[in-house]
Amino acid sequence: MKPEIEIYDTTLRDGSQGEGINFSVADKLRIAEKIDAFGIPYIEGGWPGSNPKDVEFFEQAKHKKFKHARLAAFGSTRRKGVPVEEDEQVRLLLAAETPVITLVAKTWLLHVKEVLRTTPDENLAMISDTVRFLKDQGKFVIYDAEHCFDGYQDNPEYALATWQAAENAGADIVTLCDTNGGRLPGEISEITKVARNKLTVKIGIHTHNDIGLGVANALAAIEVGATHLQGTINGYGERTGNCNLTSVIPILALKLKKSCVPESSLAKLTELSQFVDEIANMRHDSRQPWVGSTAFAHKGGIHVNAVQKLAQSYEHIDPSVVGNRRTVLISDLAGRSNVVMKAQELGFKITSDTPELKTILERVKELEHQGYEFEAAEASLAVLIRKILKHRDLPFDVNAYHVSMRRNGHTSMCEATIKVQVGHEAAHTVAEGDGPINALDSALRAALIKFYPQLEKVRLTDYKVRILDSGTGTAARTRVLIISGDGKTEWGTVGVSENIIEASLQALVDSMEYALTRH
Ligand SMILES: [Zn+2]
Repeated sequence: MKPEIEIYDTTLRDGSQGEGINFSVADKLRIAEKIDAFGIPYIEGGWPGSNPKDVEFFEQAKHKKFKHARLAAFGSTRRKGVPVEEDEQVRLLLAAETPVITLVAKTWLLHVKEVLRTTPDENLAMISDTVRFLKDQGKFVIYDAEHCFDGYQDNPEYALATWQAAENAGADIVTLCDTNGGRLPGEISEITKVARNKLTVKIGIHTHNDIGLGVANALAAIEVGATHLQGTINGYGERTGNCNLTSVIPILALKLKKSCVPESSLAKLTELSQFVDEIANMRHDSRQPWVGSTAFAHKGGIHVNAVQKLAQSYEHIDPSVVGNRRTVLISDLAGRSNVVMKAQELGFKITSDTPELKTILERVKELEHQGYEFEAAEASLAVLIRKILKHRDLPFDVNAYHVSMRRNGHTSMCEATIKVQVGHEAAHTVAEGDGPINALDSALRAALIKFYPQLEKVRLTDYKVRILDSGTGTAARTRVLIISGDGKTEWGTVGVSENIIEASLQALVDSMEYALTRH
């Protein structure tokens, strides 16, 4: 079924402009997979004309099969005075080989004159030439009208002429962008109405959150007929960010009753938000509407049962609808069913009647309390569940390890030794590395490969460290998130300790164990 409102995710492009966000190619691919699985129909992967990392992303994305999403490459119109077929940036856009191309162009005469330094007519020609050229190449073209609302207020005739140039050249969607993010909902709806009446093409909306109205402004456009909405997970983006998809999606679905993502996805919204925060290495915003950890927190002090009854009268929705939970209820049913759902997803035959469920739940809560997060480390969760269910003997045990570092002149070198037990046999290996984790990873791998040659293909693809707040006044804990891959799939594992090497080893061991025991 076609959704009434099409969601377009630009976390990987506009979102990556946010301060402190620096996605690797592997990060981008993992986020794209997650957003695809969530059921968002468009994913903008990046701007191939702006940096080699995005070129590399599209190169790798060519081999991925997405279930719901069509991938979009972002770029701008041809340069002034250059034939479109000779424009290098447009060539790179095509080389991304995406089904969708999103093209940004100027609406505001001020920008045409002062930034592009060209004539109003040449700007219109740049728009129509580029849109037509891409349509001729069989692309689905989304036209992003930059500074659209500012431009319209400055000169309505010219703004309209730019949108019409895109429509007449065959653009599939004309997206109105509040690039500076300073407009009010009334202004957005008024100008969107004009576009709706003057154009026949589908209208999109792209808003920024500079005055805290990113979501409100997008909704203002939706209410007067825009049917395509661009935003980012957790509202990432330059300055104060973009329209937050983790807010706007549940508003569309639950408050406005407009379909936008598969109904079953809504319960995974909180998980999606936390997953993207983890990969981006951003601190989770606990006060974020819908998905924040305190979004449904109630102060305790009353008997838990009473709170449970009362809580509903203090909540605008049932938190489990968006996969969140009421925080006063530590051992609530939602937590239980979440774990069942997750375990089933990971391939375990488990129901709410499985006797070990209670132990699993307690262990997960205990670990989360210590600082573990499983949203981006599902492989660690799978290893944990397997241990409690005692499905199989553990494939190996790490009996002992030692890591040392020495400096010789200008070069430093780390060395790790590790003792591993597999059944009745033991292996003792030594490896060197540029850093302690690298040495430890090599030593562990060398020890295990003798018993499990299939681990040869397993590679550590990413490594992230987060220092956790220490409320107790003792040494700060470190959480390590490791992403491993075997060329076909990738998985995440987590470790937490006051000692970064110990935390890393936990995550490494989980990764190897998962590689050996997964379904
Ligand atoms: Zn933007």
